Amino acid sequence: MNAPLKQHLIDPEICIRCYTCEMTCPIEAITHDDNNVVVDADICNGCMDCIPVCPTGSIDEWRVVNTPYTLEQQFEFDELPDQEDIEVAADAADDDPIAALLAEAHKGAGGVSKAPATAAKPTINMYNLGKPAMMKVQGNYRLTDDPDHDVRHIILDPAALPFPVLEGQSVGIIPPGVDDEGKAHLPRLYSVSSPRDGERPGFHNISLTVKREKGGLASNFLCDLEQGAEVAVTGPFGATFLMPSQPDTPLLLICTGTGSAPMRAFTMQRQRAGATGGMTMFFGARTPESLPYFGPLKKVPETLLKQHLVFSRIPGQDKEYVQDRMMAYADDVAALLENPKTHIYICGLAGMEDGVERAMITIAESIGHPWGTLRDAMRDEGRYHVETY
Ligand code: NAP
Repeated sequence: MNAPLKQHLIDPEICIRCYTCEMTCPIEAITHDDNNVVVDADICNGCMDCIPVCPTGSIDEWRVVNTPYTLEQQFEFDELPDQEDIEVAADAADDDPIAALLAEAHKGAGGVSKAPATAAKPTINMYNLGKPAMMKVQGNYRLTDDPDHDVRHIILDPAALPFPVLEGQSVGIIPPGVDDEGKAHLPRLYSVSSPRDGERPGFHNISLTVKREKGGLASNFLCDLEQGAEVAVTGPFGATFLMPSQPDTPLLLICTGTGSAPMRAFTMQRQRAGATGGMTMFFGARTPESLPYFGPLKKVPETLLKQHLVFSRIPGQDKEYVQDRMMAYADDVAALLENPKTHIYICGLAGMEDGVERAMITIAESIGHPWGTLRDAMRDEGRYHVETY
C-alpha cells in the first residue's frame, strides 16, 4: 500500500473559473478543461502560492489519499469527494501533518460538525457601497406580455471582476444619484436568477428578475437600463437560501411572481449538473401573461421539474393561490414531507406565508406529523428556507 499523502484539490462548486490560480502557480501544476480547474498531484509541491490569490476560497481544499485523484477524475468532479477512510499507523506522531489532517477530516465526518446539507461555502460581502462591482448590462428583456405588469430579465457582466455567486443568493443594486440628504442611495436587494457558472455557462454573468414598481427608484432604473450601461453592484449576500449539494435530494419550491428568481437559478443549475432528486414547484401569478419565464418553463422536462402554475386573475375562473393547489395535490406534498431528504423553499409575497403554513399544517397532520415540530426540525437540519418580502 502507498503511504498516504496530502492532495491539493479545488472545489468545483465554488470555483468561478477565473484561472488566477493557474496563472499564479510557479510550476504549472494547475490546469483546466471546459468543466473544472484541477491540480496535478504529480507536480504540486504544496508551495501555497495559489491560495491567497483565489477570490472564492475554493482553492483551499485538501484530502488525504492512498492513491491521488487523477486529472481525469478531477475533470469529472461535480462536487468534491468526501475524505476516504484511511488507516494511519498507530505510532503516527502527533505532529505528523498527515495524521493531523486525517484526524480533522474524521472529526468532521463523525458528526461533530452539524453543517446543514446545503451548499456550504457561499462568498458574501465582497463588494459594498464604498467599493461596488461595476457591471455592464448585457441584455434587458421583457418577460411578461401583460402591459400593466412589466417584469424584466436583466443580464449583468462583471467582466474580469471575480463575483462568485450561488443560486439563492442576492445582490445589491445601487441606484445612481443621491437621496434627500445628499447621500448615495443604499443598495436594493435582488435575488440572482442565474446559476453559479453564469447565465451563459462558463461566462459568469448574472441575471436578475425585476418587476417595475410604480415610483420604485431601483426597479425603474433597472427596467430602463440599456445594453452597455454600467451598474454598481454590491454583495453577494445570503448564506441560507441555498441548494443542497447532493443532487439526489428532492426540492419543494413554492413561489409567487418575481419570487421565482431563485427557483429559476435552482432549476438551471440542476439541469446543467444532471441532478436526479427531482423538483416540484407551486408557482403563483396573476395570469399566464404576467408569469415570468412562462415560455421557457414549458420546455423544462417534468422529470426535472414538476410544475404547478397557478393563476389568480384569469377572467371567468376562480382565484387560485399556491396554497390551494398544494391542498389539491396534498398526497404529493405529503410524500415530500415524509422524505427525510426533502428541502423546502418559499419565496415571494410575504402574504403567502400564512396560507402556505395553513396548507402545511393540514397536510402534515394527515400523515401524523404536527407541522410545527416537523418544520422546526427541518429548519434545524437546513432543509426549510423562507425568503418573503
Ligand atoms: P404579484 O404578481 O403581485 O403576485 C403573484 C401572485 O401571488 C398573484 O397571483 C397574487 O394574487 C398572489 N398572491 C397575493 N396574495 C397572496 C397570498 N396571500 N397567498 C398566496 N398568493 C398570493 O407578485 P409580484 O409583484 O411579482 O411580487 C412578488 C414578491 O416577491 C414581491 O414582493 C417581491 O419583492 C418579492 N421577491 C422578489 C424577488 C426578486 O428577485 N425580484 C426575490 C424574492 C422575492 P392576486 O391576484 O390576489 O394579487
